Amino acid sequence: MILSAIPYAPKWWKTEGVLGEIFPTQHALKLRIREIIARSEFDVPLGDPSRAFLVEVLRRHHDWLAKQGEGVVSVVVRLNPPPGFGTATRGLWLIRADATEVDISWVTPLQAGGKSTAKKDVALAARKEVADQTRAVFERLRGTECPICSKPLFSGHVDHIAPDTLDRLLADWLTQEGLSLQDIEVADLGVENAFADRDLAASWSRYHLANAKLRLIHPGENLSVARLKT
Ligand SMILES: [Zn+2]
Repeated sequence: MILSAIPYAPKWWKTEGVLGEIFPTQHALKLRIREIIARSEFDVPLGDPSRAFLVEVLRRHHDWLAKQGEGVVSVVVRLNPPPGFGTATRGLWLIRADATEVDISWVTPLQAGGKSTAKKDVALAARKEVADQTRAVFERLRGTECPICSKPLFSGHVDHIAPDTLDRLLADWLTQEGLSLQDIEVADLGVENAFADRDLAASWSRYHLANAKLRLIHPGENLSVARLKT
C-alpha cells in the first residue's frame, strides 16, 4: 500500500500527534520512539500498533516517497554499523513490496521541515568519506595513553585537533575547489550520506589525508576541551 507523505507542520507532535496521541514535547515523542525500538527484536517485522505508529512518524520524512518505493511491507529494527568506528546504533529499515530495503532515520521527521539541513548533510557525508582514515588512526592508537587524561584508550573518539576541525578543513577544501557547500550534491544512502560526485569525494579524501591532524581521545573529551577554550 502506498501511503502519502504528511506535510511537516511546526510542532506536529503537539498539534497533530501520532495516530491521535498528542505529545506535549518533541522529547516525549523521542522517548516513545526509542522505547519501541529498544524493545524490538532485530530483523523481526514490527507488529501493530508499533509499526503503524512509526510509519505515521516516518511519513513526515522529507524523502518519504522515495524511501517508501513500491510500498512498505514491514518495518524492522537492525543494528546499524557505526560510520567508521564507534558504537553501533539501532536503526529502522523499511522492507518494500519489491523486496528491496532501505534504512530511514526517525530523527529526520522530527527536525524542521522533516529534513536535516544541507550543511549538516554535507558535513556528515564529508565525515563518512574519510571514515577509513579516522578508522586507521583508531586502530593504530587503540590501547595507547590518552593525550588528555593519560588513561589507556580502549574505546575512543578520533578527534581533529583544533583549530583544524573537520568543518574548518571542509571549508578550506571547498575554497580550494572554488565551491560552496550548496554545490556538493549528497547521495542519500539512508543513515549515511556520501558525495554524489566521486571525483570530488576523492579530492576531499586526499585533502583530508594531507591536512588533518588526528588524535585518539576518550569520547566526550573533545567537547570538554572545546568548552575550556571558549
Ligand atoms: Zn582521556
